[in-house]
Amino acid sequence: MTISVVVPCFNEEESIPLFYAEMERVREVMGTEFEYIFINDGSSDNTLSVLRDLNLVNPKAHYISFSRNFGKEAALYAGLQHAKGNYVTVMDVDLQDPPELLIEMKKRLDEVVELDCVGTRRVTREGEPPIRSFFARMFYKLINHISQVEMVDGARDFRLMRRPMVDAILELSEYNRFSKGIFAWVGFETQYLEYKNVERVAGKTSWNFWSLFKYSIEGIVNFSDAPLNIAFVGGLLSWFLAFIMVVFIVVRTLVFGDPTSGWPSLMTVILFLGGFQLLTIGILGKYIGKIFMETKKRPVYVIKEKSDNEKLF
Ligand code: UDP
Ligand code: MG
Repeated sequence: MTISVVVPCFNEEESIPLFYAEMERVREVMGTEFEYIFINDGSSDNTLSVLRDLNLVNPKAHYISFSRNFGKEAALYAGLQHAKGNYVTVMDVDLQDPPELLIEMKKRLDEVVELDCVGTRRVTREGEPPIRSFFARMFYKLINHISQVEMVDGARDFRLMRRPMVDAILELSEYNRFSKGIFAWVGFETQYLEYKNVERVAGKTSWNFWSLFKYSIEGIVNFSDAPLNIAFVGGLLSWFLAFIMVVFIVVRTLVFGDPTSGWPSLMTVILFLGGFQLLTIGILGKYIGKIFMETKKRPVYVIKEKSDNEKLF
């Protein structure tokens, strides 16, 4: 029995040795085989040479190095494609996903046969700006409302899965990969372990408020078509409103004559409708952009270097 450990790394030269040491301790406690798959996602620091050295020490610590930064989602996909174990876990290298939780996760999978996956969920968001936590909560409320898949608030990518679930995830070969949605979409029985937020051991996060905002838009566009209905419902409403107004104006003119006034209200209506049209065209554009990228059928990532040659790995 082998557990494949998929670890995306972007500028993580300091964290990798700390992560590896922790994981080896956990492996000894568990008494299982670990196969590491580190993905160097176009780092500009010494991540790659750290990974090369690690591979010399432990041949089971494989690495894949991308030709540039393709993003964490692409790195996860590459890692899952190369994972050989009958259990697979995906983890951040900054130790924000506590390795010792793996022990409990594996225990649960062993105890309950029907369970396919044990995930993790942060119940606190300590160390995070309150405004960010607020928007994160709003995002989960919204996406669960407008999308068919159920995304658990605070759920991390950190999870231990059985092989069938991994194979199902690999079946989804789409270019626009939103992992939180993909994990939820494939279904399977998942239980969540709860834990308190841990701060990163070294290096710094690659997320800022703007990138998180864009990420949440990605999530919505990739897993819901509700925004497309905004134009339809809005159009219907304003058509209905216009109809009432026409009746109102005709009646008023017949009864009171035609006092020429109402320029401000006219402008308000024009601006409102103009803005609304631009917004809905923008929404259409978002989806067309996604279709555009999907139809190109570009690979999700490009590999420049691997630790083992094609046949072995
Ligand atoms: N990561 C990656 N590619 C990127 C950005 C991040 O592979 O473009 C990796 C990073 O090295 C880390 C994990 O994804 O192992 C999570 O990143 P980070 O800690 O910056 O995110 P946060 O924990 O703040 O959500
Ligand atoms: Mg982190």
